Amino acid sequence: MNIEFNILKRQFKKHQLEYEEATLRVLRSGWYILGKECETFEKEFLKWSGSKYCIGLNSGLDALILALKVIGIEKGDEVIVPANTYIATVLAITNNGGIPVFVEPDEYYNIDVSKVEEAITSKTKGILAVHLYGQLCNIIELQKISIKHKLFLIEDCAQSHDAIRDGKKAGTFGNIGCFSFFPTKNLGAFGDAGAIITDDEKIADKIKMLRNYGSKVKYHNEIDGVNSRLDEMQAALLKVKLKHLEELTYERRAIANNYLNGIVNSKIKLPKINSDGKGHVFHLFVIATNERDNLQQYLADNGVRTQIHYPIPPHLAECYKELGYKKGSFPITEKLANEVLSLPLYNGMTMEEVEYVISCINKY
Ligand SMILES: *Cc1c(COP(=O)(O)O)cnc(C)c1O
Repeated sequence: MNIEFNILKRQFKKHQLEYEEATLRVLRSGWYILGKECETFEKEFLKWSGSKYCIGLNSGLDALILALKVIGIEKGDEVIVPANTYIATVLAITNNGGIPVFVEPDEYYNIDVSKVEEAITSKTKGILAVHLYGQLCNIIELQKISIKHKLFLIEDCAQSHDAIRDGKKAGTFGNIGCFSFFPTKNLGAFGDAGAIITDDEKIADKIKMLRNYGSKVKYHNEIDGVNSRLDEMQAALLKVKLKHLEELTYERRAIANNYLNGIVNSKIKLPKINSDGKGHVFHLFVIATNERDNLQQYLADNGVRTQIHYPIPPHLAECYKELGYKKGSFPITEKLANEVLSLPLYNGMTMEEVEYVISCINKY
């Protein structure tokens, strides 16, 4: 058997006619940027999320960059961020001139909230929380810390569409929730796309201006903006996907449950699910073992493709050399980078394929 890590065509095929209909509707409308599709997607997304405002943007990274820009992150400002995250989270800070202050992960691979307060200094402006792999971090505690220290709380929800904690969706706990709709994300577009949600009207207004050259009225540029608009095609396609997100999440959870119940191998650590475990949306199914490279090769030899999220932690990335971190600066994160392995888990994966992956792993 040959098991790819992801086959995007399978999730497309589930609702192919609806996607094709949406595409033709946009093509034939003659209106491609900032029109009805974007507006209605924003309405539907904010209704879905339970927040007051939504602004469609060009990507998840743009959502994060603009979020940090509106809260006023400038040169020299410190932002607390998990050491174990995708580099885009950190790029959002440094793109604004800010300094990332890394905090090691807990046993759920998310930021260890017990180490956040000791990272706060007089220069700290905000906390950039990440809900990694599809499970919310301890955002309740981060809310308390941010209120106590008067910090902004921004959520990177690129991997956690529809993830829940205490009955609330990811992105609705902080001042701003940032989403990516990159094709492989749980709510994926068919190209680049992103959005922010917020309950703060001022923030929403400003991001709306920023995404369109800093203007509300054409040629009246009030602030120093960018071009980061969610185009009509992606918005129309996302509306279709959003309608089916619940069923897509359900399918992901079913695959994950099979892995959780089926994988029995003393060499392998399964992902830990927090007590509000119903809320995990399994953007990735990440196992860990100190024989990671061996296991990955063995699985590849048996036709099972896996990936590593992520092999190089941001503090050791080439682009952040000047931050001065060395191997050993964040040992827990570095250990994870050597031990984690993501198994295939995607919409349209058959249970036969899932069973095959399980049997390979159990034979290892
Ligand atoms: C994908 C991702 C991003 C970036 O989103 P893009 O839409 O690809 O720019 C940011 N943070 C995390 C955690 C991600 O997984």
